[in-house]
Amino acid sequence: MNIRIGHLYPDLLNLYGDRGNIRCMMKRLSWRGIDAELVEYKLNDKVNFNDCDIFLLGGGSDREQKLVCKELSSIKKDFKKYVEDMGVVIAICGGYQLLGAYYQMDDESVEGLELVDLYTVQGEGRLIGNITIKSDLFDMPITGFENHGGRTTLGEGVTPLGKVVNGFGNDGNSGYEGVIYKNVIGTYLHGPLLPKNPQVCDYILAKSLSKKYGKDIILDPLDDSAEDRANNYSQALN
Ligand code: GLN
Repeated sequence: MNIRIGHLYPDLLNLYGDRGNIRCMMKRLSWRGIDAELVEYKLNDKVNFNDCDIFLLGGGSDREQKLVCKELSSIKKDFKKYVEDMGVVIAICGGYQLLGAYYQMDDESVEGLELVDLYTVQGEGRLIGNITIKSDLFDMPITGFENHGGRTTLGEGVTPLGKVVNGFGNDGNSGYEGVIYKNVIGTYLHGPLLPKNPQVCDYILAKSLSKKYGKDIILDPLDDSAEDRANNYSQALN
């Protein structure tokens, strides 16, 4: 078995080590004897959504999001098809905001990919700090770091990734964080997210393998004692 991971615009969207999420996915695949390959798509590269089994969109500053925005219109249609066909996506912070209709800043608006029913508006002050959320999908709390000026609102009936235990989350008010739609996970949690949230990582890997090989794939458990310690440590920072 093998999995190809596409990193969209690593030259611009890669805040706080979001690239570490890819290393984590590759490592957890290789520990199970599954081959993993990374494909980096820089700005202006042609993206073929049939070529990868997971796509990662990392975080970025407002300036970088504006630069990427121009490119997004060219991939929007194919990306939508990939998502609707249950393609796996993990999008962090700035990348999460780009999944939606738009990111409205004070002076200008960045048009999003319209893959998920949500939108983001810049608010007063930034929402910064360590964050822990609880998702019904996982036993372990999900923990990380957030730093965003945008406040994200989910459309009616759209499922958040989890409830905020500590921190701000989508908008600092709703008590919810992130989004889950089909096989897309969007979240404000940087850190990077996956090394200290191994259940989230394995969820993504199992979804991509099951889709690729057309059957339910249950991953062999790993010794996650170091990852669990990191998760506990990060929760305690809150
Ligand atoms: N520029 C966006 C904001 O400030 C996203 C920042 C990020 O990815 N950390 O809301």
